[in-house]
Amino acid sequence: MPDNSLRLPPLLTYEHGGALLLVESPFISWRLTMKSAYRFIALVTILGCCCPTLAPAKEVTVDSSAVLKTLDKNHPRLMLKDKDLERLKRLYAKDKVLQKCLKDVLEDADACAKKPMLTYRKIGPRLLHVSRECLHRIYALGLAYRWTGEQKYAEKAVENLLTVCIFKDWNPSHFLDTAEMSHAVGLGYDWLYSYLDVKTRKKIKAGLIKNGLEPGLRAYEKAWWSKSEFNWNQVCNGGLITGALAIAESDPQYAEQIITAAVKSLPLAIKSYGPDGAWGEGPGYWSYATHYTAYGLTALQTALGTDFGLLKIKGLAEAGNFPIYTSGPTGRYLTIADCGEKSFRRPMPCMFWLARAYKNSLYAESEHAEIAKRDARAQHVVWYVPSPRKMPAAKDLDRYFRGPVEIAVFRSAWDDPQALFVGVKAGYNQVNHGHLDLGNFELDALGIRWARDLGSENYNLPGYWDGRRGGRRWSYYRLNSKSHNVPLLDGEDQDPLATSKFIKFESKKSSAFVLVDLTSAYKKFAKKATRGVAMVESRRAVLVQDEFKIEKPCELVWAMTTDAKINIKEKDTAVLTLAGKKLIARLLSPSAAGFAIESAQQKAPQKTNKGVRRLIVRLPNANGNVRVAILLSPVWKDKEIVTKVPIKPLTQW
Ligand SMILES: [Zn+2]
Repeated sequence: MPDNSLRLPPLLTYEHGGALLLVESPFISWRLTMKSAYRFIALVTILGCCCPTLAPAKEVTVDSSAVLKTLDKNHPRLMLKDKDLERLKRLYAKDKVLQKCLKDVLEDADACAKKPMLTYRKIGPRLLHVSRECLHRIYALGLAYRWTGEQKYAEKAVENLLTVCIFKDWNPSHFLDTAEMSHAVGLGYDWLYSYLDVKTRKKIKAGLIKNGLEPGLRAYEKAWWSKSEFNWNQVCNGGLITGALAIAESDPQYAEQIITAAVKSLPLAIKSYGPDGAWGEGPGYWSYATHYTAYGLTALQTALGTDFGLLKIKGLAEAGNFPIYTSGPTGRYLTIADCGEKSFRRPMPCMFWLARAYKNSLYAESEHAEIAKRDARAQHVVWYVPSPRKMPAAKDLDRYFRGPVEIAVFRSAWDDPQALFVGVKAGYNQVNHGHLDLGNFELDALGIRWARDLGSENYNLPGYWDGRRGGRRWSYYRLNSKSHNVPLLDGEDQDPLATSKFIKFESKKSSAFVLVDLTSAYKKFAKKATRGVAMVESRRAVLVQDEFKIEKPCELVWAMTTDAKINIKEKDTAVLTLAGKKLIARLLSPSAAGFAIESAQQKAPQKTNKGVRRLIVRLPNANGNVRVAILLSPVWKDKEIVTKVPIKPLTQW
């Protein structure tokens, strides 16, 4: 052991609830100064796997001077080794789905070979689209070359690699761009190593060091993302791990420092899946974060033979449930946080990685269903798992994802695109990429999304990231409360610092509901605010019931955003029509009020939301105990409509 070794106390422990928690200690202020002291011992302890299916993670010592002792010095050593490629080739002979995946990848590689060369062109402050395109091409072309041995694929990959290696930089001011490019170039260098001549290797390595790994080392000294609990953490760490391991036999100093720092940093984000696999930034960022978790951990496993216990962090094993349960029967995701508008479940190779890592047949089956419908990517082949022989256990109709951001989902059936589905969100408004949307619900039925969340805005709008109380982020319609399916008191947004919790969740055949305490979001006006969302009448309709104890009299508006045409038949009955289907909204309480319609349209440069409407109920002078109860009833094929349900106080749910 080097005499300048420094033992750090455990960084992570777990609290009584089982969630991993960062524990401050006098030693934590010790800073990771890469320049002066990269030979040190960081003791990273990952404890806290209360999950019965996983053994507690062992204490892992990451010793920068020893981190490469198990390095496989051969190439390719990243993601897919030659022995794994041979195993896949044997499987290919008899596995029709793998044959389809390969066909998709070769078509993709042929298309990539025809594309014009990458150029250094930023969009706003980002070079990210260029990094991602490079990554896409290197995986497709690299795998096509390794599978077929055809030089045309290798040639094109090398041309792309040399092009980006002489870029003036990989835009380290927006470090995702640097990290993804480091991943692409590291992977290309490793996969094509035997094809490259010495001179070309040198050029690619020089570009990777100058534009990727050197800025990476500097970033660990001060960059916020290494302490982040969200997607930047996994992307930046995962990209740098891959780049550094690609050249670790000749230039070990980069991998020694980067892996030591990355293994210390990654648990901060991976624990965000806990305990049930949810991701606070929504399903869109779930995919980005989980792919990079997969890249980082796979690179460690293939090159070093260890994941340093990171796989055992509680919640990661459950992560594959999140995209499965948060996509409705329409295929559309719950558009939580800055999830893209109308985004839906697509092929995601990381589902194969999760299926393999945790032997989970549900994840495998779910991804097989996706690639049956759409093209597979090279990473599907890298992490390929055959279709499970034994079908997974039936999925629950309802699911409660616990965590700092909580999600509850309910449905009437699986495998029926017409089924009824409702999802509800709680948590905290300051979550990364969050909107002011606590208690928001989205609803599918009859193959239509009736209650919408509009999704993300343009990230380049001024002040988009200023999410403080009073910050400019909250001036944008899609991000503030006014576009969401949440109550508005005196037209004001929810408190940007508000937090909320589900206080009751029930999932029975006869009754399925969730109660969310929204008091913190509305405390300026209300002493208590609670929302209940229930599937009622044998899961044929949804009841949304809000109860307030209002102390400061105000206008209360109940609202729901929809693409449907709204026809108000009587003041308590609105008929929503879309694509020839109907949903009837009934105002069950208060009887004196009535429905109205507003437009959700906005002026550019915000997204204009053309044709989007708001079904609203306005109570001008809300005071004291107020209850708003709305029944949302699809007009089913049999024309049976749920018209009434008994109203009980939420305390009796
Ligand atoms: Zn939203």
